[in-house]
Amino acid sequence: VPAIELTGVEKTFHAYGEAVAAVGGVDLAIGQGEFFSLLGPSGCGKTTTMRMIAGFEEPTAGEVYLHGRSVTGVPANRRDVNMVFQSYALFPHMNVFDNVAFGLRRRGVAKAETKARVGEMLEIVDLTGRERRRPAELSGGQQQRVALARALVNRPRALLLDEPLGALDLKLRQAMQVELKRIQREVGITFVYVTHDQGEALTMSDRIAVMNDGLIEQLGTPREIYEHPATRFVAGFIGTSNLLGGEVTEVSGGGAVISYGPDGRIEVPVRDGLKVAGGERLELTVRPEKIGIGTDKPAGDLCGVRGTVTEVVYLGTSTSYNITTSTGADVVVFMQNATNADDIAVRGDGVWLSWDPRHSYAI
Ligand code: ADP
Ligand code: MG
Repeated sequence: VPAIELTGVEKTFHAYGEAVAAVGGVDLAIGQGEFFSLLGPSGCGKTTTMRMIAGFEEPTAGEVYLHGRSVTGVPANRRDVNMVFQSYALFPHMNVFDNVAFGLRRRGVAKAETKARVGEMLEIVDLTGRERRRPAELSGGQQQRVALARALVNRPRALLLDEPLGALDLKLRQAMQVELKRIQREVGITFVYVTHDQGEALTMSDRIAVMNDGLIEQLGTPREIYEHPATRFVAGFIGTSNLLGGEVTEVSGGGAVISYGPDGRIEVPVRDGLKVAGGERLELTVRPEKIGIGTDKPAGDLCGVRGTVTEVVYLGTSTSYNITTSTGADVVVFMQNATNADDIAVRGDGVWLSWDPRHSYAI
């Protein structure tokens, strides 16, 4: 059975005589030991979804199951899940050891076992030797790890983390992303992670649910979501994506073709039930790193579009090219920089863009 399952979960708030639909019907199942992220822009319903799993809110409709059992009406403290927030909420007057031991002591766990479990947890979060420090004597990243140890020491079956790294600066946040993933692997507990940061979700997650406006737009592995965005929203929210489109001139077994005459040709493989007829308009996405830049019209089955370079930005490991196609679309291309190589093109150059049709995704 899934560790966590939501079926048809909705939440409507009533505030100042108005109804706000925060979550509009969410279905998802999270596996035991999975690192699962809810990713979406501010206000899309991530925190509300988490609070319904934790038991701080009851759904307006639908059902939450933990390990196969409905938890409707079960209070938060009886749900066997723990939550970590962005504000670590450590006890400032207690040292690290006492902060982590707090929950065990309150439940009457024996002294020797408390010492052993706190010690083990501090080792996992790499804070051995800091037992006597107070929160104010620790860095932000260390405080966050104390909060994590405190939540994990009770051995919950799932840990819910709501933007826990939001208060840290970029370098530290990136280091903590790797740390969190390692800790999760080590303790083997199901993690549900809320973030609005797509890079963070891609780095850590086994699977991601992309939310928008109270609904899940797409659910899949980081690779599936990045490489095969299912909707225009997902394509735009995750990474950089190019939107191209045109009138379908030909539909064959292999896919739909948009022809620009001498200025190019795009093929979109027919997959995932894509139904399109000749004469209809088709929109597609292609990721910037899947496109090549050349001087000649690509041969064979490759997609090709003619354009003019409008901007070249050197980024160190890669260079970004902005190109306006002859059809008026603005396209971004990322090229890895080889040692001592010159730029492939400069501003004002006429170029051909080319890519493998398998990288065209209809949306
Ligand atoms: P996120 O965590 O993705 O930023 P939230 O789940 O916090 O989004 O909020 C989703 C929507 O529900 C927002 O429009 C928010 O204003 C609204 N909302 C959240 N909590 C309440 C509440 N207690 N009362 C009224 N509206 C709320
Ligand atoms: Mg939130």
